Amino acid sequence: MTTRVFRSPPAYVQGRNSIDELGTHAEPLGETALVLGDEFVLDLVGGRVRDSLEDVGIDATLETFGGECSVTEIDRVVDVHAEHEADVLVGLGGGKAIDTARAAREHVGGALVSLPTIASTDAPTSSVAVIYTDSGEFVEFHVYERHPDLVLIDTAVVAEAPTRLFRGGIGDALATWFEADAAFRSGATTLFGTRSTRTAQEIAKLAYTTLREHGRPAVEAVDRDAVTESVEAVVEANTLLSGLGFESGGLAAAHAIHNGLTQLEETHDATHGEKVTIGTIAQLVLEGRDDPFVEDVAGFAAAVGLPTTLAEIGLDDPGHEVRTTVAEAACAEDETIHNEPFEVTPADVRDALLAVDAIGHRLDGR
Ligand SMILES: [Zn+2]
Repeated sequence: MTTRVFRSPPAYVQGRNSIDELGTHAEPLGETALVLGDEFVLDLVGGRVRDSLEDVGIDATLETFGGECSVTEIDRVVDVHAEHEADVLVGLGGGKAIDTARAAREHVGGALVSLPTIASTDAPTSSVAVIYTDSGEFVEFHVYERHPDLVLIDTAVVAEAPTRLFRGGIGDALATWFEADAAFRSGATTLFGTRSTRTAQEIAKLAYTTLREHGRPAVEAVDRDAVTESVEAVVEANTLLSGLGFESGGLAAAHAIHNGLTQLEETHDATHGEKVTIGTIAQLVLEGRDDPFVEDVAGFAAAVGLPTTLAEIGLDDPGHEVRTTVAEAACAEDETIHNEPFEVTPADVRDALLAVDAIGHRLDGR
């Protein structure tokens, strides 16, 4: 496979109070909109979203999201959409509401606006949705044909959300360059089933350098609900740079190990980005990166409040068997861990987790 593909949404808008500019940016997309968000998010910003759309003559209906991105909920939204004959579907809030809007749009056509109210993962910019059962169990990871027509993120809203979610976004984005780099070196395919581009590699790398330069002050600012240039930089890294970087750059060990960790009930209280952070440090260990390098990356993670020990993601003293469960799932046949430029076995992952934990404890003792 020598074809290289880079894909992205046509428009990305970010800034303080950018929600109030939604109408201006969505105006070319249609005349009617259905806005899907959970009760909390509709209470928080639903009124502003509707006002902004109606100011430019877009007739907007707010619809309460059921809570799971499941086939049942997607079908329900498709029906509601048909009732209103909406030209534009707006996914508002967290990943699940946006993913449901993304999946429903695939059935009904028209435009999709992705409007995250948190910067906790890099999914909002992508064409990927995670589908669950009605009770919240993972079913599949689906790559859709189309990207959102518009991604809009309001940094004032993001800064007011819990800091832990913002940190999680940093954890998710911290993985992007290491994974894209591994996939590039091995010649592995991306989520589009093609080779990566130099563009995607540089975008992934920029996500990493931006986090290193602005991560700490950004977390401090968000802790105080403040929007600074560092917050703007990190929101862009978490959302746009990491989103483009993971999709067009490729995944590798970090997310596979994250997926392995989700096998354990005990890790369910840890966020996506927190588990990915452990996966990233484990990937560096697997790759045999030198100790100062691994300690530097892990030290940055710790400095922004991300976990570096297994206990911090709910695994107090995980034995051989527990780590084997994680390792075997991480090394499943279709997992992206095989995008590393060398062979990775479950035994390698099982032991890398111990090495990660040791580095985390060393940092604790500093
Ligand atoms: Zn991720």
